Amino acid sequence: MEFSRRHWLTSLGLAPLVACRPRRERQARPSIPMPRLDEFQPRSTLVVPTTRVERPRFPVVDVHTHLTWSNDRTEELQIPMPPEEVLQVMNRKGIRMMINLTGGHGKALEKAIATFQKPYPDRFLVFTEPTYHWIVEPDYPKRQADAIERAHKAGARGLKILKYLGLGLRERVDSGPLVKVDDKRFDLMWEAAGALGMPVAIHTSDPVAFFQPIDRFNERIEELAMHPDWSFHGRDFPSDDELQQARLRVIARHPKTTFILLHVAKAEDLGFVSRILETYPNTYVEFGARINELGRQPRTARKFFERFQDRILFGTDAVPHGVEYPQQIFCDQLYEIYYRFLETEDEYFDYAPAEKPPQGRWKIYGLGLPESILRKVYYENAARLFGLDLKLFRD
Ligand SMILES: [Zn+2]
Repeated sequence: MEFSRRHWLTSLGLAPLVACRPRRERQARPSIPMPRLDEFQPRSTLVVPTTRVERPRFPVVDVHTHLTWSNDRTEELQIPMPPEEVLQVMNRKGIRMMINLTGGHGKALEKAIATFQKPYPDRFLVFTEPTYHWIVEPDYPKRQADAIERAHKAGARGLKILKYLGLGLRERVDSGPLVKVDDKRFDLMWEAAGALGMPVAIHTSDPVAFFQPIDRFNERIEELAMHPDWSFHGRDFPSDDELQQARLRVIARHPKTTFILLHVAKAEDLGFVSRILETYPNTYVEFGARINELGRQPRTARKFFERFQDRILFGTDAVPHGVEYPQQIFCDQLYEIYYRFLETEDEYFDYAPAEKPPQGRWKIYGLGLPESILRKVYYENAARLFGLDLKLFRD
């Protein structure tokens, strides 16, 4: 009788649980001095296959790079590495083409195009950016849309939106309330980009942990301790969800404009990203600086790549000489890690060329993608999106 009652309760999920509460009253004290978290560098004793992938299986288009930076007001352009030097890494690592997203606007854009795209049209493409400080002008919508048209004439191939929109730009540029991602003043700009066939590469929000309190439960606490200005917790910042929803309203309002959601839109929640890709055919995703997230959920990520193999673009977020962010330093090793992640089934390896994992204390697992998907992700999807000649990708 007792047995059958228990059995019946269990089938309803109502069986009494035995709680395993740790005893709190006497916490064991370590008998040796413990290293501080920032000094902790455990060396794995795991013995598993280690594959070095020096060259990608197919030629690569890196759609997310920052080869130039510029000032929104002065339009001065910084070129941290000349194209000839960038090309050496590209040639060694099988990178056919790089897209420089931060080409700026006006004079800066012209210089970025003259330095990279004009002399090497088969190797570099340049995107433009909005002129944010014009936001205070009453004719901003039209003025910005016209600027996009001029940028297109000058050779810009797309429009880049930094997370600055949503988390930085304010009504009086540096002061006042934050301007929302779906502010109607940008509608003409999104429409212009769509009409001109310029994809919009948009970075909205940031890692979820950057919106959480900086405390012992925060899985990115080391990174936030190094860069406290990366925290968007508190003050007048919107939540990650508010930012994501605002971007979705923009995508829904402009179905003829193609949006590349940078950093996998929200790499911590591929279910959410899947629903975006299903709902909005005008979206792609790119995975720069997020293999730390994808590689810690390799089974979910692999299914995601299988399902959305036509909508995923290769990107790294590479920055020449970006020593502060090891996960983004433009160098041979960075690309080898990306290739290893995509191509092999190696287990438990570093996602960045750094002594300590810089974006969360964990390691990653390779996806072991088949050739048919690798080809799409490495170059075919980008070639289709940017109308590139497939001849460029014959080895
Ligand atoms: Zn970036």
